[in-house]
Amino acid sequence: MKLLLKGGRVVDPANQIDDVRDLLIDAGVIARAGTDLAGTAAASGAEVFDVPRDVVVVPGLIDMHVHLREPGQEHKETIATGTAAAVAGGFTAVACMPNTDPVNDQASITEFMIARAKEAGLARVYPIGAVSRGSKGEQLAEIGELKAAGCVAVSDDGRPVATALLMRRALEYTAMCGIPVINHCEDQSLKGDGVAHEGFQAARLGLRGIPGEAEEIMVERDITLAGLTRGRVHIAHLSTRGSLRAVRAGKARGIRVTCEVTPHHFVLTDEALAGYDTNVKMNPPLRETADRDELIRGLIDGSVDAIATDHAPHHLDEKSVEFDQAPFGITGLETAVPLTFDRLVHPGLITLARAIELLSINPAKILNAPGGTLSEGQPADITLLAPDLVVTIDPAKSRSKSRNTPFGGWSLRGGVAATIVGGRIVYTNAAVTSPAGWHSHAGR
Ligand SMILES: [Zn+2]
Repeated sequence: MKLLLKGGRVVDPANQIDDVRDLLIDAGVIARAGTDLAGTAAASGAEVFDVPRDVVVVPGLIDMHVHLREPGQEHKETIATGTAAAVAGGFTAVACMPNTDPVNDQASITEFMIARAKEAGLARVYPIGAVSRGSKGEQLAEIGELKAAGCVAVSDDGRPVATALLMRRALEYTAMCGIPVINHCEDQSLKGDGVAHEGFQAARLGLRGIPGEAEEIMVERDITLAGLTRGRVHIAHLSTRGSLRAVRAGKARGIRVTCEVTPHHFVLTDEALAGYDTNVKMNPPLRETADRDELIRGLIDGSVDAIATDHAPHHLDEKSVEFDQAPFGITGLETAVPLTFDRLVHPGLITLARAIELLSINPAKILNAPGGTLSEGQPADITLLAPDLVVTIDPAKSRSKSRNTPFGGWSLRGGVAATIVGGRIVYTNAAVTSPAGWHSHAGR
């Protein structure tokens, strides 16, 4: 039951640590951090894992926005396949959206999800409950009951929280129970039947547009209501410069607002629509360059709180249709780390410590979940990153049940070496080797 991670570069920004040290894991928690623990009494009997020189040991990554599709759409994904993709992508925990079938609007469904995640024994799963019954936007769901069953937040994701009054009530109620409301911000009347960002590219390609303002209007509404209620709102998959301006202004006024950005929104723009590939159809849509560049500035300056994937698996048959007919969404769990390193960390836009803040520390804080640090006594949820590993994205090798990624064939620098959840090694990457050896052996 004991595991010693020996001689790794440990980066734990919450404790201001960036240093070579050993981590001793005992009974699922981080028992000790220090140098030369191998010979100590505490480490006796531990299995020793020599951390390769080019591997970095960081707090387990947390993806606060995924769709696991179970119950109800198991042809797209299950909790077992989704969490297998999560650990392969370096995530030790994921928060899953309630737009399953049935919707996660009651304790029995939340409990089912948690039980399935336990059976799978891979990443931790934190369910997000529905704001409204059936996510229909009419009556509030039993939020207190959902929280008691294990929900870490509420959202009607897939759809926006339908009305200002419902949002107000949800913020008032969740403020009392200490969880955030996560909103998919989109004015549905402005979105209409749009399929792509309204702008030059959509016009050129003959695609119906969704203006950035459809998102911004609701971001403004929600920030205003968070101010009114002193509740806590988290903006999901923020995609426009106007939305980010509103979040910055809200934060400056002391309003409790946080936001996340997806890798596809900080990497791609609507220029990717040119081939009508349904794997670049997502909601919110890919925006224009000025938006993408402002999101990157937000990732740099701290106004964006988290990177979340919005992992949205769809079956090949569902995406193999005309652009207009295809469902919105792409997979993201296995591409987030390569995209974050290749596009943000290696070009020097953000530091490794900031990447960990975006992918671990802040999601843990926003969801009030464990993790985000490697402090002694914390659950041993640990990600071993291989920042210099060159990864070629191969959708056929994905652990997810679905293959809908626009990044197939991309070569990116930055990968995952291993993933540890609750002290158990649940994923190792065979592509990572080093002179020091990537083998565990029995300690003395
Ligand atoms: Zn959404």
